[in-house]
Parts: sequence; C-alpha cells; structure tokens
Amino acid sequence: MADIIKLLPDHVANQIAAGEVVQRPASVVKELLENAIDAGATSIKLIVKEGGKTLIQVVDNGIGMSTTDARLSFERHATSKIQRAEDLFKLDTKGFRGEALASIAAIAHVEMQTKTELEEIGTHIKIEGSKIIFQETCATPKGTSLSVKNLFFNIPARRNFLKSNQVELRHITDEFNRVVLAHPKISFQYYSNGSELFNLPSSNLRQRVVKVFGSKTNQKLVPVNEETQVVKISGFIKKPEFAKKSRGEQYFFVNNRFIKSGYLNHAVMAAFEGLLKPNTHPGYFLYLDVDPATIDINIHPTKTEVKFDDEHTLYAIIRSTVKHSLGQFSVVPALDFQQDQNLEVPYSYASKGAEQPKVEVDSTFNPFAESKGGTLQLPKKKSTKGWENLYVGLESKVGKEVDFSSLSFESETITGSVFDDEDEEVKIASTTFQLHGKYVVTTVRSGMLVIDQGRAHQRILYERFLKYGTSQESVSQQLLFPLKLNFSRNELKDLLEIKEDLNALGFAFGEMDEETIEIKGVPVSMTATDVAVVLEQLLFDFRENTVSESFSQTDRLSKSLCKALAIKTGERLDQESQLALVNDLFACKEATVSPFNKRIYITITENDIANKF
Ligand code: ADP
Ligand code: MG
Repeated sequence: MADIIKLLPDHVANQIAAGEVVQRPASVVKELLENAIDAGATSIKLIVKEGGKTLIQVVDNGIGMSTTDARLSFERHATSKIQRAEDLFKLDTKGFRGEALASIAAIAHVEMQTKTELEEIGTHIKIEGSKIIFQETCATPKGTSLSVKNLFFNIPARRNFLKSNQVELRHITDEFNRVVLAHPKISFQYYSNGSELFNLPSSNLRQRVVKVFGSKTNQKLVPVNEETQVVKISGFIKKPEFAKKSRGEQYFFVNNRFIKSGYLNHAVMAAFEGLLKPNTHPGYFLYLDVDPATIDINIHPTKTEVKFDDEHTLYAIIRSTVKHSLGQFSVVPALDFQQDQNLEVPYSYASKGAEQPKVEVDSTFNPFAESKGGTLQLPKKKSTKGWENLYVGLESKVGKEVDFSSLSFESETITGSVFDDEDEEVKIASTTFQLHGKYVVTTVRSGMLVIDQGRAHQRILYERFLKYGTSQESVSQQLLFPLKLNFSRNELKDLLEIKEDLNALGFAFGEMDEETIEIKGVPVSMTATDVAVVLEQLLFDFRENTVSESFSQTDRLSKSLCKALAIKTGERLDQESQLALVNDLFACKEATVSPFNKRIYITITENDIANKF
C-alpha cells in the first residue's frame, strides 16, 4: 500500500490550533491584551465593534517589534518568551506558547503596525487566513497596534455559533475586567462601537477595583494581607453582607494571572462560613504570589487553570487569612444571621397513622417578610395572610373556568371543608397538608398527589409574568418610598437593556445616575424587600444567559423572576395558602412541569398504596 501519511500544511495546522485558542472574540481580546502587557506597555487601548465580530483592536505603547520579528510573530511556535523547556518553570510572562498570533491570523483578517524605540520607521503587515497580503514600512509611534477583523470569516460554522453582539461584548468585558484587575498600574481604555466603556488611569489596586465596580464598592472592601514562605496573599474581600446571588465578583490571581479554582474558592467560602445568607456568594479579589517553580500553568490551552504543588497548604493559608481579615476588621460581630428557616419546619405526622393530619398554621407568617436587610414593607391587603401578597390581583381562580385537564380532586374528604361547587365535573382540592416544608400533599380521585411547592409556585408565577409581559396588562404597585439601589456600571448597562421588558412586567424605574437607579414600582407579587435580590437575580441570569437565547426576552425574564420569587423549600404554608397553590397550579396551562422542565408533582394511586400492604 502506498504511503498515506502527510504533514499538514501550516495554514491548516494553524486553523486547527485556532480551534483551541480562539473560541470567541473574547479569547482574541485576552491574547492581545496579554501580549501588550508582556511587551511592557503602560497604556493599552481596546477597541471593539459589534461584540468583537467585526473588529477587535488593541493598541499599546510597549516595546514593539523589529521588521523581522513582526513577520515571525505570526509563525506557529514563534515566541520571544521562552527558549528552553526549563523556562516554563520560571515564567513571568502571560504568553509562552507562541500560538496566539498564528492562530488568530489563520481565521481572521489581521493587520499589525509596530515599531521599536530605536527604529525610525515601523512595519505594517496585513494577513488574511494565514496569507500575507502585504508587508511594508510605515510611520507609527513606538508600540504595537493589532487589529483583527471578520473573525472566523473562513469558518462559517464557528461564526454562526457566536452569540448575539451583546453577549459577546459581555464576554469581552469579563476578560477585560480580569486583565485590568491584575494590572492596576497600567492604564486602560475600552471602547465599544465608538463609545467609551472604561477609562482606567494608572492607580493602586483598591482604586482599580472601585473604578471597575463602582464608587460604592469602596466601603464594602476589607483588605487582606498575609505573607508566608509558601505564598504572599494580598487584595480585598467584600464584607459578607454584600454577598451576592451571583459569583460574578470572585477573582483569584496567581502571579498576576487570573485563574479559576473551585478548590481555592472553597477555602474562601469556608472562611465566610456562618456569615452568609443562604445561596449568596461573597465577593473577593485575591492576589497570590508564589514561586513560579511551584505552579504549572501549562495544563490548559486558555490558561485559566493552574496546578499547585501544595494545594492543601495553600487552602489552609487562604482560609485562615481571610478569616483573620474578617475578624480584624470586626466584620463578624456586626452580623446577625440567626434565623434559619430550615430549622423551623414543623413535621410531626409520621407517627399519626391515617388520621387527618393537622397543620400548624402560623397565620402571621409571611414567606417574604424575612429579614433581607431592608426595612421597607409594602402595605398589605390583609396583614394576617402573608400568602395573599403573592396573589394580589390574581385572586384564586376557583370556579368553572378552571381547566383541570385530566385531574379530578377528591372532594368527599374528612375535613368537611368541601368547596361549594355545583358543577360535578370540576372538583377543587379541599384537603391538603404540607410535608417537610417542601411538598404539598392533596387527594385526587385516584389516590394522592405530592406536589413540589417551589416548582408549583414557579409555574404559577411564570405563567402570570408571561401574560403580563406579552399582554401589557401588568399590574405595578407603587412603592410608598421609592428605593435607591446601587449597581456597578456594567450591571446598570445590562439593566437599561432590559428596562422596557421589566416595565412590562410591572417594574417602574425613576431617576438614575452612574451607579444608582431609583425603583418606584414593582410587580404585584413582590415586596419592597425583595427588589434588590430579585433584580440581582435577573441581572445575573441575563448576564450568564442561563436560559437559552432562542426564547424571547419576556420569557427569559419571566423565568428569572419566577425563580427569584417562588416560595422555597422550608417555607411554611398555612392551609389556605396550600389550597391556593394547588388550585392555581391546576389552573395553569401546563401544570405538570416547572418552567425549567422539572416535574412538579407525582401521583400515588390507590393501587400503589394497596400494593404496599
Ligand atoms: P506568545 O505570547 O505565546 O509568545 P504570541 O503568538 O501571542 O505568542 O506572540 C508571538 C510573539 O510576538 C511574542 O512572543 C512577542 O515576541 C511578539 N508580540 C506579540 N504581540 C506583541 C506586542 N503587542 N508587542 C510586542 N511584541 C509582541
Ligand atoms: Mg501571546
């Protein structure tokens, strides 16, 4: 048989390598910014258009390149940063693979202008899909300007895979943040579609963090400093009361390189133990300096993962250092997170046999009145029934219009509190009890239903919001005292993008400035104390884009809102609330699965029960 193995031509090899290095515009941004930093730049400008799809340009005032180097920089494995394999163990540069420029030039239209300090004339090179279009001399200041246009022009599949400009821009901003937080001494400017997003002067770390996340951040920061033989730790943590639903503000840098580490994150979480509200994540900006010989950053092509020689020690040091800072700045005693709802779940039915269970009703309990830091309360329709807050404007739809599909409830029950309903066909649930603060159990003709209360409520709220969002008939309740909420500039920008949709759902916004926005009204099923948490959740979902993009904005927001507002596990429901929940669930268009495609209830038939005996 003839020989069939061939060496791939360079441009093919480069395209393949590009698949690893360049996933999306943000990856190009990261590589170019890192090159500029490695070149010793003190001032770096990032310019993008249309989420980086049509243009990404980075201009630096670093050392620049000679004509030969400029040409060579686009070759694969061409790097000035390492010469021998041993060099890998004393890296102090961001790059070292010599792959980025070659990869980028294989899948985009690239132009570079560069000049060193000593030369008078610079070099101008244009490459498209690994092909050199021209190379000529040019007049240009010291440093390098690299522009990348039409990313993935020759790989349509990749190009089509990109998300909306908004989403891609957000990824770019995330990369930008990671880089600028690691290099506060370097000044950065960032423009998108011609408008300035960030202008960050050279500063110290604290000023940089504040400039990126908003001036209110300053008072939320607690410094962290520790020096041991293994590691030097510096940076800031955010006070526990400012912990957020999102993990957006968690940054680890190792030798000034942003890294992700679930293990080290755990160490920080351990230090915060007992100080955080459930499901919130503390913010931190932690900088670890270690001997480059003790880490291996070579394990991941995009280099956000690092392997440490001695992770366990590092874990212990981080935990105790963060703990120490929390204690030292007396963050700890000021907090009170005594209430743990999960401990209050009444459950004592187990031994009561077939007796009709009695539910202890706490008629003053309001699932939304738990201390969320705020002191504002909305006027309630009736102060005794917290549940009604959830249902203002949507009085339980019992009656003939209810479509119970195939379900028919057992109404001949022992409690005697049968719904007075003439129509024999439509029976309304009349007996319920709550199990483990998690399920609502009710009877149907064929046996019993065990309903997941959280998912059921999500479904009810979801359909409601969807209706508001699409029919413009939303009911907004004015807040007696408008709230002023703080957000970072990024968050506010996101908020503006979805403002109209939020209006449709019942939010009313007032004045805003760079970092605050006034909330004048909220959807009917919400209380003032929820606003901050809910908006945060909305922004988080919007940012993370957790729900598929193919759905409408209203759909996404409705999902997000129902997730934030639905009752949670451990929340006690009085009898009336349980009934309302069941009946409203079965008034929904789709009662079987939650908006997130999770099963809402299970049916245990009489047969199932009989089989157990
Ligand atoms: P790496 O950064 O891994 O070395 P790259 O492909 O990113 O590989 O860059 C190749 C080489 O081109 C670098 O080693 C550096 O010498 C040179 N280079 C790239 N960008 C710049 C820049 N902005 N300023 C000066 N030199 C640069
Ligand atoms: Mg590089």
